[in-house]
Amino acid sequence: LQRLKVLYITKINGTDIWKISKKKAFSIKRLMETTDKLAVLNTGEGAQCRMGKDRLADISLKNIDITDKFWNKYRSLVKDVIIPYQWDTLNDNVPDAEPSHCIENFRIAAGEKKGEFYGAVFQDTDVAKWLEAVAYVLDSQGRDEELEKLADETIDLIGKAQGPDGYLNTYFTIKEPERRWTNLREGHELYTAGHMIEAAVAYYQATGKRRFLDIVMRFADLISKKFGPEEGKCHGYPGHPEIELALVKLYRVTGKKNYLETAKYFVDVRGVGENYFFQEEKGEKYQQIFPEFAGYEPEYSQSHKPVREQKTAEGHAVRAVYLYSAMADLAYEYQDEPLLKACEALWKNIVTKRMYITGGIGSSGLLERFTTDYDLPNDRNYAESCASIGLAMFGKRMGQITRDAKYADIVEKALYNTVLAGIAMDGKGFFYVNPLEVWPDNCLNRTSMEHVKPVRQKWFGVACCPPNIARTLASLGQYIYGEDEESIFINLYVSNEAETQINGVPCKLTIDSDFLKNGNVKIYVKSQQDSGGKLALRIPGYSRRFLVSRNGNEISSPRIEKGYLILEDMKAEEIITVSCNMEARFIHANPEVRADEGRVAIIRGPLVYCLEEADNGRNLSSLYIDTKAELTEAYEDELLGGVVTVTAKGKRISNEGWNEDELYKEQEIQLEDVVLKAVPYCNWGNRETGEMAVWIKELF
Ligand code: ZN
Repeated sequence: LQRLKVLYITKINGTDIWKISKKKAFSIKRLMETTDKLAVLNTGEGAQCRMGKDRLADISLKNIDITDKFWNKYRSLVKDVIIPYQWDTLNDNVPDAEPSHCIENFRIAAGEKKGEFYGAVFQDTDVAKWLEAVAYVLDSQGRDEELEKLADETIDLIGKAQGPDGYLNTYFTIKEPERRWTNLREGHELYTAGHMIEAAVAYYQATGKRRFLDIVMRFADLISKKFGPEEGKCHGYPGHPEIELALVKLYRVTGKKNYLETAKYFVDVRGVGENYFFQEEKGEKYQQIFPEFAGYEPEYSQSHKPVREQKTAEGHAVRAVYLYSAMADLAYEYQDEPLLKACEALWKNIVTKRMYITGGIGSSGLLERFTTDYDLPNDRNYAESCASIGLAMFGKRMGQITRDAKYADIVEKALYNTVLAGIAMDGKGFFYVNPLEVWPDNCLNRTSMEHVKPVRQKWFGVACCPPNIARTLASLGQYIYGEDEESIFINLYVSNEAETQINGVPCKLTIDSDFLKNGNVKIYVKSQQDSGGKLALRIPGYSRRFLVSRNGNEISSPRIEKGYLILEDMKAEEIITVSCNMEARFIHANPEVRADEGRVAIIRGPLVYCLEEADNGRNLSSLYIDTKAELTEAYEDELLGGVVTVTAKGKRISNEGWNEDELYKEQEIQLEDVVLKAVPYCNWGNRETGEMAVWIKELF
């Protein structure tokens, strides 16, 4: 709806209705059927595109039914396993888990109970992320009375914990009411507010219910009054970006411009003049929260210089990509070319110099941050699951604005590799850290490897990645499509049935995808009449051959624009088949990447592969792969829920001639023949605990 141009406003049954362009006029009726109230809809203000392009919109999650076997293995876990489990943790009903106290904090803040606050300053985000995941499940998998009742009761409790002025944060309300907004660097108030807002927007879109939206609007109004360039307002900005992109979302559903302006203010003021976080330290009520922030560097929070001057991705990786996502949103809303240029430069720096082949970012375990170009160690990196989710969020926005398929290439890489590796195949364990090489014996506490875990962890008391993965899986539909009035863009070849319109003609799209298995996809488009619109198919960056047939005729000289194959003049019925070369192949890293020198990785389609001890024995460092020999692929139905495995010829350095009392001696190495077997990286760590490696030494 965001792209609709408003012609005039009218009233139907006492409700304000935005009248939209002639082509889309019937949409009003459709909207009437899907939402209770249309009092607030986007005015389209700011959507005139001086960039010469209209931003691609999402197809509503309601209208996308994902039927994909590969993804639904994980997606069904969100509703059946993760959401109930998380609810129990929020309520301290998991016997052997650290207490969360999250719901209890809200009861205390609401005055329903007496007690002390317990947990991290951002503990409230746990319930916000739970509600957001619930919203996407309701939106994409259909309403569920029991789940919705639980969510409504939780929202009521949140409402009771809100202050008379709109303030909402249980830590500061219960524990430090005098210190509101006095430590933006560490207090996470704006970050927490951002997650509340994202959850409320999602819940409103899923259910049409306004209660939660009204709560966060009161809070956002307070924030808009508190922060801004005007004299007397606070000139700070959040230590952890998140509210910026949330306020843009809130603006897009409510049309209230002050939210957009506050988001813009937070982005514009960051890194300008004397660093705000050093200024606030001098404040009377300032109190440090995290002792580890002594010796704070502004790069950590991307506040080292104004955002339009930032060319390299610095600091905490999650903070960075949440900020860049908001920058992309604002670049579009304000048609701000310099801001878009900064986004492009930052994106380029990440994907050409600071990103793992798995779409992981943040190569330092210490402070979970970016370091320098080409510094991509495999065994002690951070590469937080949340950071790859943020990278997908940033890439999605850039793709919507520029219509360039190169962004979806990275979104796909992040989702299919790091994000999926973050969750166990039974939904009960999660990685925060995503190394590309693991030797379980050296993942020791109180060492530089302390953060690397060889086994996925149960939900923590303080959990960012698990609920973030849950909300991403539940809202996967947002990454599949983009659309404008006359075109539908297909970014991910995920099986689904979707309903939308092309040129105002309602149509049903069915994607029947065997993509991961053999690169074949069938797309059916059915509409009531010829729409004359366009279908844009993303040509994956890794495909050597991408053949498309339309109604049985192969397209020999396709029209290609920025990585999309464009099919024009859509008829009432279309059958399109895609055949993408998915052959497994070897990939080298730029020779500047010290950690990967003399090594290769195996990819097959979007999936990065790895060796595991379960298939290759211990000490994966002793293995060499023969890149001159053929790779062999086999679909193994029984393995890891059904995967294509890749085998290769190779050698192993033999232990023969060495005994355990010898650490060093003069002796030539002896090689023995072996067959190496690789499995998708996203599935690693789902068998017995063992070693894993993505980059394999190359036999010369
Ligand atoms: Zn995380």
